[in-house]
Amino acid sequence: MIRWKKFVELLSSPRLMADSKSQHYDVIILGGGLAGMTCALHCRKQIPEAKITIIEKAVHPVPEATHKVGESSVEVGAHYLGEFLGFRDHLENEQIPKMGLRLFFDRGDNAKIEERLEVGGTQFPPHQSYQFDRGRFENFLAEQCIDQNIDFVSSARINEIEVNKRKVDHRIRYEKEGEETELTSRWVVDASGRPGLLKRKLTLKKESDHKNNSAWIRIGKRVKVDDWSNDAEWGKNFSEGHPRWQSTNHMLGEGYWIWIIPLSSGSTSIGIVADPEKHPLSEFNSQEKFIAWIEKMQPQLGADIRKDEFQIQDFRAIKRYATECKELFSSDRWGIVGDAGFFIDPFYSPGNDFIAMANFFVCELIDRDLKGKSNLVRVPLYNKLFRLFYQGTGAIFKNNYHLFGHHQIMPVKIVWDWMVYWTITGHIVIQERLTDPKVYLRHMFHLKRLNDLNELMQGHLREWAKQSPPEQLGGTIDTSKMCFLMGANRALGDRLDDKQFADRFASNVRQMETLFWEIVDHSGLKIKAPFRRREHADATKGGFEMVFRIPSGEPYEMPMEDDMQDKASMAETPAMV
Ligand SMILES: Cc1cc2nc3c(=O)[nH]c(=O)nc-3n(C[C@H](O)[C@H](O)[C@H](O)COP(=O)(O)OP(=O)(O)OC[C@H]3O[C@@H](n4cnc5c(N)ncnc54)[C@H](O)[C@@H]3O)c2cc1C
Repeated sequence: MIRWKKFVELLSSPRLMADSKSQHYDVIILGGGLAGMTCALHCRKQIPEAKITIIEKAVHPVPEATHKVGESSVEVGAHYLGEFLGFRDHLENEQIPKMGLRLFFDRGDNAKIEERLEVGGTQFPPHQSYQFDRGRFENFLAEQCIDQNIDFVSSARINEIEVNKRKVDHRIRYEKEGEETELTSRWVVDASGRPGLLKRKLTLKKESDHKNNSAWIRIGKRVKVDDWSNDAEWGKNFSEGHPRWQSTNHMLGEGYWIWIIPLSSGSTSIGIVADPEKHPLSEFNSQEKFIAWIEKMQPQLGADIRKDEFQIQDFRAIKRYATECKELFSSDRWGIVGDAGFFIDPFYSPGNDFIAMANFFVCELIDRDLKGKSNLVRVPLYNKLFRLFYQGTGAIFKNNYHLFGHHQIMPVKIVWDWMVYWTITGHIVIQERLTDPKVYLRHMFHLKRLNDLNELMQGHLREWAKQSPPEQLGGTIDTSKMCFLMGANRALGDRLDDKQFADRFASNVRQMETLFWEIVDHSGLKIKAPFRRREHADATKGGFEMVFRIPSGEPYEMPMEDDMQDKASMAETPAMV
């Protein structure tokens, strides 16, 4: 009897319509880059019996060092790859643990790194993230796919996609070694990156109003900012175990920034990202112009590149990297993940966060559909939620590049932006509650308040910058010593039940309201907020003191070591009630 019931259940499951030997799949993934392979592995984890294939154009194994950009992760992406997908061993042993983000501001001709304002930690942040060599990582992911019984077809170019409605299967044609193959599937997921195969086919492309450009090289040596100065005082808090070069180092100037990312293959990735209104792409769109531009803007980095110019391994440039899409998920059984859908800006390395989020949404839809559940409510909800997260992140970057060189305001913005990221996206995604509609029903007030606070703050920072011209000063903002900041970072790793999750959300709001008014007061400007000012006894106050004082040249007395310890342990559960 039980066996018969099971048989009927299985017959009504769409998955079984596939003959395991035929060219029919439950899921076809178009493109096997970071998004495509992690989506396949996520699907495998959530739906162990699904029949999945990936069609990828590149010849595998792909080269190390020069394969792709997108080499730095932050907390959400790192959690997704390391903990959710379970690749922590590979990340810790075959890639480079990241010593957080570190930023150096302009000072004079930028000839002495030790005289420049530096924002960054002297310790690894509690919640680990990683730098990855994309070639090495994608080779590893392809092996994982094969091990986990996912058909991985490389050197294959997708030529045709037929997307069908209702119960009719989708059809895909690809060419490999001169032969054409046709596959059918219940679900198709576009992970083709910038070509956006499905986005193009279904005319879903949207122009982004974020118009920045980028160019980059990989050089076959370790570029170490640590080596740019012999000043003992500047080097004293860093050692072999936690050096500056393991950070994602950013060199900031007005309207631009430069990344320096170490790769586990031994190379270094160096890229310029700039607002074209200040620095058009034509100023650095060839290898020679790229080096000359860096020599002019960042002479220490320029000299380091120039002396080993022969070791440059590639040069690439991209115009208007931001990309948008009308929708990502459909009840007609398709989804779009990774750069094929949206990409906003690389400044805080959010690319693999958004890959994780889109994968969570699409895998949940696939799982439900294969179990015979309806997605009519989830599809619009997930499209809306993804857009909300994207817009929230967009507010941090759009129209803000002129703030990047501002010594008094940018450090405040950086710390504020980190807190926004950890208290909203970090909190929801790392607690693996992203796809649960109940979270949004229960916590809409908190989400809306945090979103309003952020939008208001970004506008306020722009207004503040208009009224106070920047003044170049030196100093160090050691983020490892900012207790509330490290506490919020550490708290990301707590495993919370529903009640704790709700309490943490509420305490995050109180913390952000407190910080919001602290920044407004310090700026000396008035702000019209659509909510009342509230004081919170349980939130960390005075957290921004170090950030306010150093770039304004006021002396700042670092709390004593014991005092720090007390505060740091208090901050382990920030402002929890
Ligand atoms: C300048 C810059 C810097 C960035 N820095 C960061 C960073 O530090 N951290 C971060 O998280 N993100 C960063 N990103 C974003 C990051 O690059 C992307 O998030 C990530 O690489 C996207 O992965 P993907 O799998 O969507 O696309 P891709 O990695 O491009 O993969 C798409 C795959 O589809 C395949 N494909 C395409 N067309 C076809 C076809 N017709 N047939 C078969 N296969 C096909 C391609 O070969 C490719 O392998 C950066 C982006 C830019 C522009």
